[in-house]
Amino acid sequence: MSQTVSDGDLVEVETRIGNNTFHPGTRIPERPTDDSLRPKDREQHTVPPNSLLWKYMGDPFVLGAVGQRAAIIENMWPQLGQGVSDHSVLVSRGDFKSLRERAANTLKTIGGVVYATPEQATKFGIQVRNFHKSIKGEMPNGRRYHALDAETFYWAHVTFFELIYRASELGVIDLSRDEKEQIFEESKHWWSMYGVDDRAQPETYADYEKYIAHVKEHDLIDMGIAQYTAGSAKTADYFVRAMPKKYQRVAKVASPAVAAMLRITTMGHFEPELLERLRLTEYWTKKDQRRYRRLIKALRIGRIVSTRLHLPVEARYMPFAAKAFRREGINPDDITLESARQALAEARASYVSDAAAAVEVIEVVDAAPDDAACAKCERNLEDCSDCAGTGVVDGEPCDVCHGARRGCPVHHADWRTPAVVG
Ligand SMILES: [Zn+2]
Ligand SMILES: [Zn+2]
Repeated sequence: MSQTVSDGDLVEVETRIGNNTFHPGTRIPERPTDDSLRPKDREQHTVPPNSLLWKYMGDPFVLGAVGQRAAIIENMWPQLGQGVSDHSVLVSRGDFKSLRERAANTLKTIGGVVYATPEQATKFGIQVRNFHKSIKGEMPNGRRYHALDAETFYWAHVTFFELIYRASELGVIDLSRDEKEQIFEESKHWWSMYGVDDRAQPETYADYEKYIAHVKEHDLIDMGIAQYTAGSAKTADYFVRAMPKKYQRVAKVASPAVAAMLRITTMGHFEPELLERLRLTEYWTKKDQRRYRRLIKALRIGRIVSTRLHLPVEARYMPFAAKAFRREGINPDDITLESARQALAEARASYVSDAAAAVEVIEVVDAAPDDAACAKCERNLEDCSDCAGTGVVDGEPCDVCHGARRGCPVHHADWRTPAVVG
């Protein structure tokens, strides 16, 4: 997990790479590899429905407390920030449609991998991974990055469940030590769904605590792209630009109120040392702090009240979570540490007994026609780089193009079906 520090890691002068800028004094370790696992080397273990992850990941009171935290701390990891800067349509286009697409994709990621049926979730985990296959490029000092490097992709994963711990530190929920340990054990299942090397994953929750402290102190940096997300809160320009043209006048009028709201959702959740690293301390006013404390209190009370009133799950969970609770016939209020432990133990026992029979079957498809284009993004298909256009890796069907030999450079085997947005 920790990097060997060598002189080649140190950025000595302001360095611009694409749209991103690195500042002198930051360290950029080499994280260049695609650490995807082949089907025979991976075991995907779904997150059980009775888990604490199910209970908290789709809880809008928890999500409301941390605002844009996941996206911001993701963009402070040098290689992820560079990947977002180089490949995100949001950065290159900065328009409303891209914002919605990104939000829809993020929800699809959480909703799909954690809350889908086991059959769908296993497919979806690999789709999410493959979506990151083409996200690679250059870093300062001739370093290279790949989004699927074991350390980098693991951090992207952490940003999603870390926010539950943060919501507890902030006081919206009260997790016990045992519950925190349980959530960490469940997060290992979630990680296994992606089929990427687990060498960056801590063994225990106690190890995770050391890991997260180390990352916050040494790995998260200020750079151009981090300012793009976190610094957007200084003014509401970003919000005005993101609106469709016909709403821009209204957006300008609303911008002071929006700026205040943005400051709360982008800065409220921050530890003081991270706020300082991003040079945002002076923008986080006493008035903002009071507003944020009121927001946390309101969320805490709102959560307690809506639970006591036994409101239907649709009224107090994100749509993807509510749908999954309905499907499984589970009331999230019935999920306790004990039931979550039992669900995980049962899931693990069944994996042990199924292990011999579990040979993953890849649906092999016909070779793609020469003139085929992606229905999602209209790109022309290219030869699959994982199998060098042969459709086969180590004598098995390629799990990136599914034997089609060609695929979309972004959506890979998923090029036949149009994107669903909205
Ligand atoms: Zn595509
Ligand atoms: Zn292939």
